[in-house]
Amino acid sequence: MSQTTIAHRSAIFHCLTDPDLGHLEDTYEYFEDGVLIVKDGHIQQIGDAEKVLAGHSNIEVIEHRNKLIIPGFIDTHIHYPQAEVIASYGEQLLDWLENFTFPAEAKFADRQHCESTAKFFLDELLKNGTTTALVFGSVHKVSVEAFFDQADKQHLRMIAGKVMMDRNAPDYLTDTAQSSYDDSKALIEKYHGKNRLSYAVTPRFAPTSSDQQLAMAGKLLAEYPDLYLHTHLSENKQEIDWVAELFPECENYLAVYDKYNLLTDRSVFAHAIHLSDSECQRLACTDSAVAFCPTSNTFLGSGLFNLSQMQQHKVQVALGTDIGGGTSFSMLQTMQEAYKVCQLSEQQINPVKAFYLATLAGAQALKLDAKIGNLKATSEADFAVLDLAATPLIDYRLQHSSSIEETLFILMILGDDRAIDATYSFGKCVYQKNQNFSTVL
Ligand SMILES: [Zn+2]
Repeated sequence: MSQTTIAHRSAIFHCLTDPDLGHLEDTYEYFEDGVLIVKDGHIQQIGDAEKVLAGHSNIEVIEHRNKLIIPGFIDTHIHYPQAEVIASYGEQLLDWLENFTFPAEAKFADRQHCESTAKFFLDELLKNGTTTALVFGSVHKVSVEAFFDQADKQHLRMIAGKVMMDRNAPDYLTDTAQSSYDDSKALIEKYHGKNRLSYAVTPRFAPTSSDQQLAMAGKLLAEYPDLYLHTHLSENKQEIDWVAELFPECENYLAVYDKYNLLTDRSVFAHAIHLSDSECQRLACTDSAVAFCPTSNTFLGSGLFNLSQMQQHKVQVALGTDIGGGTSFSMLQTMQEAYKVCQLSEQQINPVKAFYLATLAGAQALKLDAKIGNLKATSEADFAVLDLAATPLIDYRLQHSSSIEETLFILMILGDDRAIDATYSFGKCVYQKNQNFSTVL
């Protein structure tokens, strides 16, 4: 895919490492008048505009005035079949699954329904500046085929998997250990490593998989060493009690997954709210990651994620929206909620850390930080352009901002999809506010 060289001139911010691992100002780069040189889908150069542009004659320059370029957001836990149950009233996890989620997921037996939902879902991600997501399909193989086909049309970097679920769910939504293995394998063969797509082995959570099915999930991971593993862990107290009843031989929830060799450096466990220190140690020592999904955790009344416990044990944490338990596709809104959740347990997320969790940390969790999550030269050109005057309130408040850190904080507290002016994937504009962009191009 050959593209001409384009210079994007704007204020630019990106994280270089976890802000807790160094002096804060050394952990990110900020250019007040910066430029990104993009060629063939990759970033060729980043730096001060005047200096860098002096070395390029006859280059096309796109001026993003009163904007801020950041890496595209990375959502490390989201369900595409649940877009239609976002904002469903009044339940906690287990009832919510039964009353809202399962009936909605049943519709994904139909290819057309999958296609129209995948299209809507990808449009929402791009409209919110999210360029990569780790995505649950439904139990149906076709749900993932439709999702990947839509994502591939725009050459997006996406990771998804078919739900494996062979018990404790309605008959119309269950597979078997063998069929889940066969269907996952067929999807892996067809899509894993195709362009920018990757596959995640996706048992829904321990209670809906038999021992045989969890063993099959482990078998897939052993057969293809660069696959992801994506599931839920310790979201809700009732759920944890249920897991203890179903797997009495395991000393805790994580031990169930461990027993079937599902803890790898490409495993992402969503929620992980109620963990013991020994579970945290085990996550750290297997280099597994957890997805902190604050809007879902408060909405479903699941509990407050303990970020400092994770940090103490050096567990890799990233952010997820968990649509449809989560209440917004916006990673800015998700950062805002993460800040509030931490405030309630006397912890603080500074704004650089919040942006780190929504970008580079996601890439690190997915072992993709050499490609996405930052704007270093040679990275793939996936980035979002934030509008610093998106609303009258943001515009007004930013006039009183005295630093990039304050600006970032204002954006994460006041911003949502309106703050995304444009989204670029692999160097190409895939969303522009106020223009009619669609995944069916
Ligand atoms: Zn979830």
